[in-house]
Amino acid sequence: MLDEFVTLPRVAYFSMEIALRNEIPTYAGGLGVLAGDTLRSAADLSLPLVGVTLVSRAGYFRQEIGADGAQIERPTSWDPSRWAHPLDAKVAVRIEDRPVWVHAWLYVIEGRIGGNAPVLLLDTDLAENTVEDRQITHYLYAGDDAYRLKQEMVLGLGGVRILRALGFEITAYHMNEGHSALLGVELMRRFAYRADDVRPGEALYDLPRVRDLCRFTTHTPVEAGHDRFPYALVKRLFASSVYGYNNHKVPEPEAPGAEHGPIDFKTLTALGGADELNMTQLALNVSDFVNGVAKRHAEVSARMYPGYAVRAITNGVHPYTWSAPSFRDLYDRHITGWCHEPELLGRVHGIPATQLLAAHAKAKQTLVAAVKSLTGVVLDPQVATLGLARRMTAYKRPEMLFTDLARLKAIAQRHPLQIVLSGKAHPHDEEGKRLIVRLHQFARELAGTVSVAYLPDYDLDVALLMVSGVDVWINTPLPPLEASGTSGMKAAFNGVPSLSVLDGWWIEGCIEGVTGWAIEDADSLYQKLAQVVLPLYYDPTGEQREWVRIMTSVIGANAAYFNSQRMMRRYATEAYLR
Ligand SMILES: *Cc1c(COP(=O)(O)O)cnc(C)c1O
Repeated sequence: MLDEFVTLPRVAYFSMEIALRNEIPTYAGGLGVLAGDTLRSAADLSLPLVGVTLVSRAGYFRQEIGADGAQIERPTSWDPSRWAHPLDAKVAVRIEDRPVWVHAWLYVIEGRIGGNAPVLLLDTDLAENTVEDRQITHYLYAGDDAYRLKQEMVLGLGGVRILRALGFEITAYHMNEGHSALLGVELMRRFAYRADDVRPGEALYDLPRVRDLCRFTTHTPVEAGHDRFPYALVKRLFASSVYGYNNHKVPEPEAPGAEHGPIDFKTLTALGGADELNMTQLALNVSDFVNGVAKRHAEVSARMYPGYAVRAITNGVHPYTWSAPSFRDLYDRHITGWCHEPELLGRVHGIPATQLLAAHAKAKQTLVAAVKSLTGVVLDPQVATLGLARRMTAYKRPEMLFTDLARLKAIAQRHPLQIVLSGKAHPHDEEGKRLIVRLHQFARELAGTVSVAYLPDYDLDVALLMVSGVDVWINTPLPPLEASGTSGMKAAFNGVPSLSVLDGWWIEGCIEGVTGWAIEDADSLYQKLAQVVLPLYYDPTGEQREWVRIMTSVIGANAAYFNSQRMMRRYATEAYLR
């Protein structure tokens, strides 16, 4: 099973979460979906990658919405033996001075056009481990600091070791966000100089060699998105794997299963921060290629991390995954090879308007039917439909559209509109959960004038229904906090324009009146809706010629560019082949 994957040197792509498929709840949101799209493109393009993540048997959580609009968090789970194959190798990571054994499941992503990509799902649920340690890889983004640091030790330290134990030859380690930065520590230990060769005051490790191997993609300028751990906790969990300040002698490996010696505290603080272990700083210091996920985000990150060169590789989404069935069929008929080379979507102008409109109508019908069965809300397929789905958290400002309900009603009385919403809030994000309640209040207040549906349990399937079935995609983050944003790109694959605040990818994607419209605040949102977007949608001739022109440009300019095939060709040529 594994043989076909270890014959070729590979880039190891580490991510705390990877959205493999809808049935496997190993992701929470944008980071995981991007990781999944990254590996789906690697498979399509036969790029030699291997994904490394945690098995997250108990997933994130399943969201239900209570009668009052309150988020209810239900446990979820999945059975790895249904989708993945257990591999033989086992490695130990020392945590609190006991070995925690880690093994891996192999999940294979099949490309759309022949290739594939292996993903290793790390798992501590082994009989050798204590009851507590067996749960380290269970819950995604749950638990306290200690639980999170143990997970990151398993991911970073355990991941590097198991790749070697399985026989992988790794040419580069790519950290998708800082959660996996401890892989740098593991490589430092691997490339420690022999104690006898080190003279006092000289480096203990071959840092340039580690840096040469590591790449780091940072994903958010929001502080809460960067893990920091107190050194007291680090010392407790690393125990004898970290040794004291003035000791220049590298002790020999002692623990069973611990392949390498410990790391010294002085080196750790030099790389990870003086006061606390900052995983972003650690990742920056062990990588000689660092990038942000959109041009503006790279600039913002460069200001946040003075002294580091932060390049930009703008995100993209996976073409096949994010095209509704009706658009896949349409592109298959008219644009051979679009999955492999989405640049070809620039030729969308050759597709007859009636067929584009029919593909959209079909996607909209599918959404309308799903909304009815999931929420009971009956939408009208003839009415302009706005979509807004996000991780529900303050900086995404999902309530902006509802700032002035009287004004929104007045707009809807001239040009009918309806709204579909979705999104989860992290269980600890009280403000995010309040936002969901408030959105439901707005929906009740608008009843009779504007139909509003809130689809529970936002996941890959709900996302595809929404980005393809609505007429306009809305995004209202607080600049500059949206590093990239990807759902507007997904909408683009389905000919759906964005009406969005200029931040993240939209700064690069917006051509005013051509691929969508830029807004700044609630006032400009209402103004453009009332004066530009809705009048264009409700074409008095009934032909929607201007609307088709917009749909065509959205596909030809934005789907053709903001896709993960282009993104991965850039990672390959600029980050991996160095
Ligand atoms: C695409 C996606 C996200 C991320 O959307 P952004 O626009 O990047 O915030 C989150 N959750 C799901 C299920 C998605 O499909």
